[in-house]
Amino acid sequence: MRFSDLGLSPELLRSIEDAGYTEPTAIQAQAIPIVLQGRDVMGCAQTGTGKTASFALPMIDMLAAGRARARMPRALILEPTRELAAQVAEALAVYGKNHRLEVALLIGGVSMDEQTKKLDRGADILIATPGRLLDHAERGRVMLRGVKMLVIDETDRMLDMGFVPDVQRIVKQLPPLRQTLFFSATLDAEIRRIGAEFVTNPKEISVSPPSSPAASIRQGLVHTTPRNKRADLHKLIKQEKIEHAIIFMNRKRDVDTVVRSLNQHKLAAAPIHGDLAQSVRTATLERFKNGEVRLLVASDVAARGLDIQALPFVVNFDVPNNPEDYIHRIGRTARAGRTGSAFTLTTPEDSKLLAGITALLGKKIPDLSLDGATTPSPEDEAVAEAPPKPARRRNTSRSKSPAKTSAKSPARPPAKAAAEPAPASRPAAAPAARPSPKPEPAQKTPARPAPKQSPPEPEPAGSMDGHVPAFLLRPVPQKSS
Ligand code: AMP
Repeated sequence: MRFSDLGLSPELLRSIEDAGYTEPTAIQAQAIPIVLQGRDVMGCAQTGTGKTASFALPMIDMLAAGRARARMPRALILEPTRELAAQVAEALAVYGKNHRLEVALLIGGVSMDEQTKKLDRGADILIATPGRLLDHAERGRVMLRGVKMLVIDETDRMLDMGFVPDVQRIVKQLPPLRQTLFFSATLDAEIRRIGAEFVTNPKEISVSPPSSPAASIRQGLVHTTPRNKRADLHKLIKQEKIEHAIIFMNRKRDVDTVVRSLNQHKLAAAPIHGDLAQSVRTATLERFKNGEVRLLVASDVAARGLDIQALPFVVNFDVPNNPEDYIHRIGRTARAGRTGSAFTLTTPEDSKLLAGITALLGKKIPDLSLDGATTPSPEDEAVAEAPPKPARRRNTSRSKSPAKTSAKSPARPPAKAAAEPAPASRPAAAPAARPSPKPEPAQKTPARPAPKQSPPEPEPAGSMDGHVPAFLLRPVPQKSS
C-alpha cells in the first residue's frame, strides 16, 4: 500500500514525502479512505501507530476548499492533555505545510489572550483540551456550530481523567450533521457506550490491541525493594547503557527526588509533571528531544502521548497502577518501526499490579538481573515498611458527574478544571496528603466561577498512608554505582 493509493491530494503527498514517510501505517491505510468518504470512524489505536496522520491527513484535504471564519472553526480535535494537543498541532503544521489552513491550539496553562486573538482572526482547525475549550466557549469567544468534523482522541484517557462530561457538553454545541472520528486505545464496553453517543453508523477500525505491545520492545523486570530502588535504578542505567530514556513514576511528588538523585550521579535528568508551568514543560521536552536532557523523569499524565521518535529506552521506576498504563508507557519506545527496551523496577508489594499486567500481556515479563549487590541507604530503610499499594479503580461512573446533573449550572468542579485532573475514583482520604495544587493564570468567569487550578495527578492513594517518607524529602547522598 502506498500513500498515493489512498486518495490524498498531490500537495499532501508532497508534505508526507517531506516528512519522510514512505508508506502508510496500518491505521492510516484503513482510516484515510473511510474518512475521505465522510464516514464516522470508531478507531481502536494507541499512540505510536500513526493515528494522528490517519485523521489529520484527510482532514486537511477535506478542509482545503473552504475558508476560516472568525470564531467559527470548521474542525475540532479534542485531546486529553496539553502535550498531546501540542503534538497534534506540530503534526498538522508538518502535514499542512502546502495548504493554507489556520490551526489554533487551545490548551490550559498558557495565556487565553493569544488564543482569543487567533480565534478572532479565524481558525479552520481547533485543537483543544476540553477545559480550555469550554472556557472560551462560555465566554462567547468561539462558536462550535460551524464544526463539520470532530475528532475525539484518546477517549480511554478522557474517561480516566474525568473529562467525558466535558466532552459531552462540548459535543452538544456542535451541529448534529457532522463527521465524527472517535479514537481510543481500548474499545471496551464503557468506551463503546460513550462512543455511541457521538458517532453515527461508524466504520470500526482496530490496530494492535492494547494487550499487544510492539514485538520489537524488549521488556525486562528488575526485582528490587523500596530501600534499594534508586540504587538499582542507577545500576540499571549503567548496566544497560541507558543514555536516552523516559523514567516513569507513579507520584509526581517523587519525580524531583529521583531527578536530584540522577543529577548527583552526573546524569542529565529533568522532571516533567503537572505542577510545572506549561512553558517549563515545553522547554524541558525540547531539551530532551535535542539531547541536552538525557533522562526525562515523568509522571504518567504529563508524559502521556509524548512523541519522541527515536526513544530507545523506557524505565518504569514504579509499576503502574493500571495495567493499560504499562502498555501506554512502554509504547513510548520502539515507535514507527524502531526497536527499544522497557525495564520495570518492581518490589514485592507490586505482586498484584504485576499480575494484572501479566494477565493483560498474556505472558510474564522476563526477569533482568543486575550485576552486584545493592547497599541500602538509611533513608531507604525508612520506606521499607510502606504498606502495599492498592490498584487504582477506573472512574466509570459518568452519572455521578456534577456536570451531568446540573444542566443549568455550567460550572465544572475545580478538580476537573485543567488538563490534568485526578481521577474521580481517588479515595476521599488522599487529597489531604497532596501538596496544594498550583493555581493557573487568572481565568475567572461569571459563567464558571470556580477558580482554575492544576489539580494533582493520579496517585496511588494509601500507598504511603498519606505521609511523605523522609527519603523523598531529603537529597540523596552520593553513591558509587
Ligand atoms: P502517532 O501515533 O500519530 O503519535 O505517531 C507516532 C509517530 O509515527 C510520529 O512520530 C509520526 O511522525 C510517525 N509516523 C506517523 N505515520 C508515519 C508513517 N506513515 N511512516 C513513518 N512514521 C510515521
